[in-house]
Amino acid sequence: MGDHFQTIADIDATAEEAEALGARVVAWLVAEGIVRAERTYEMLGRPVYSPGPRWDDVTEWPVRGGCDGLAVITSRTVFWGSLGSDGSPVCPHCSTPGTTAPWPEAVDAWHRTGASELRCPACDRRVPLAEWTWEEDRFAFAHLGFEIWNAARLRPEFVAEFGRVLGHRIRTLAGKL
Ligand SMILES: [Zn+2]
Repeated sequence: MGDHFQTIADIDATAEEAEALGARVVAWLVAEGIVRAERTYEMLGRPVYSPGPRWDDVTEWPVRGGCDGLAVITSRTVFWGSLGSDGSPVCPHCSTPGTTAPWPEAVDAWHRTGASELRCPACDRRVPLAEWTWEEDRFAFAHLGFEIWNAARLRPEFVAEFGRVLGHRIRTLAGKL
């Protein structure tokens, strides 16, 4: 079966503010009864927040046990969705798929430094890598992300609420190990 995950990444959070913003989201989730305040378990070596009494309200259908936990990642991370491993970058300005843009180099540079740009071959703009979208939600480049393990599909309203609590743009990914 394997483990599957849904990721919500904040593409605007800086490295400096990631910790505080992550704590803000956890405080909101705990106050709403969606997760518990204690982190008792781990997924892949990361402590996770267990589902709270109202967890089932945020998913499309109930699952026994709710989920295996929510992890908060507050470091520079190339988040990936394993369902879209062939997806190409799509320019956020002209929406032309950027298959000829030299994106592997840009991804390497972002991984090393936390910032890089990719030039769109169609409209010739240089666009920060994190702002590109990806076919099949292949990647998100962020300093803050939330991974939810082995849960039913999250309701879109719940995902949108993350963006409101953060005050930032978010990207969502899903995948399976
Ligand atoms: Zn473009």
